[in-house]
Amino acid sequence: MGTPRDHYDVLGLPRTASPDEVKKRYRQLALELHPDRNPDPAAQERFKEINEAYAVLSDAEKRAVYDRFGHGGVDQRWATPEDLFRGVDFEELFRGSGLDEIFGNLFSGAFGGGGQRRGRSIQVEVELSLEEVAQGARRTLELERLAGCGTCGGSGAAPGTQRQACGTCRGSGQQRVSRGGLGIQFVSTMPCSACRGQGSVVTSPCKACKGDGRVRREAEVDLDFPPGIEDGAALSVRGAGEAGPAGAPAGDLLVQVRVAPHARFERRGLDLLASLQVPFHVAALGGAADLQLLDGSAEKVQVAPGTPGGTVLTLERKGLRDARGRRGDLHVLLDVAVPQRVSPRARELLTELAQELGEGAPRKGKLKGAWGKLGKRD
Ligand SMILES: [Zn+2]
Ligand SMILES: [Zn+2]
Repeated sequence: MGTPRDHYDVLGLPRTASPDEVKKRYRQLALELHPDRNPDPAAQERFKEINEAYAVLSDAEKRAVYDRFGHGGVDQRWATPEDLFRGVDFEELFRGSGLDEIFGNLFSGAFGGGGQRRGRSIQVEVELSLEEVAQGARRTLELERLAGCGTCGGSGAAPGTQRQACGTCRGSGQQRVSRGGLGIQFVSTMPCSACRGQGSVVTSPCKACKGDGRVRREAEVDLDFPPGIEDGAALSVRGAGEAGPAGAPAGDLLVQVRVAPHARFERRGLDLLASLQVPFHVAALGGAADLQLLDGSAEKVQVAPGTPGGTVLTLERKGLRDARGRRGDLHVLLDVAVPQRVSPRARELLTELAQELGEGAPRKGKLKGAWGKLGKRD
């Protein structure tokens, strides 16, 4: 085995990188290379590499030792992965990304000792309408997933028999692996390959699950989406993923939220933007026009006399609400409708009106600010 790569090279950072830069760069790479997102085996190797690099470079003491003595120095002081990763708070690092739990689980599984491997997490995407976002929504998902086998109670051993301690790891579920680096031998632990980290093996397998302790089964999971949820938000339901092998804890259900575009409303955070057509006589004389809201109710929008088209009216606290009771505003872009078909009588009246208003000669138009309004319409 060759010399491990330089931690700075692994993260693509100069040796002068600040702690913030290390954190930022690692976070970015980890999101890219996480096995739940990137199935490429090469990415898995890279993922291990960046985790080690981060464990060292994110800790002032480990980084100082590494800078002076290189891999050998670090390996001597922090010989096992448990030592190396102790104190690295991955959950904190990924909080809010929707991946904090995945990372928490991943690292407790990979480095936390214990050996028992959790079940796989299941990722699903759920599309919500803006109406559902406004109200909050409940969805029932039908999933086909590995669940604990009822015949053997998840142990994988045929009824009346028991799992036996693994001979290879003597029941610890872990395997010691020595590795050489810079002339120094050091030892790390990995899940035992004979029992896949379980510490025990099945000698007479359960027929229903062939010794795995799990069977594929359909299940329904209820999901609650709070009002105001954002497009791209991630939810996780602990333990709603696949059952773990041999009775190990289940993985999680990870839900990615998509909010479908709406025909009449656009959204920015909790604010909504809608366009409302008003007849030109309402714009001229003032009046009210009905705007249908997301909950189906009608909002009377008051239009002041002489309101030009393109005006944006803001109705405070009529936007989306969120679970904490905050509420956004509703912005209404007025679109003044000009009659397309004109009856002879209407033509007469309009001509008379034009004479009365003296609008025969165009007045100086105002271009100022028009681009801004165009921008708002996108
Ligand atoms: Zn079974
Ligand atoms: Zn074993």
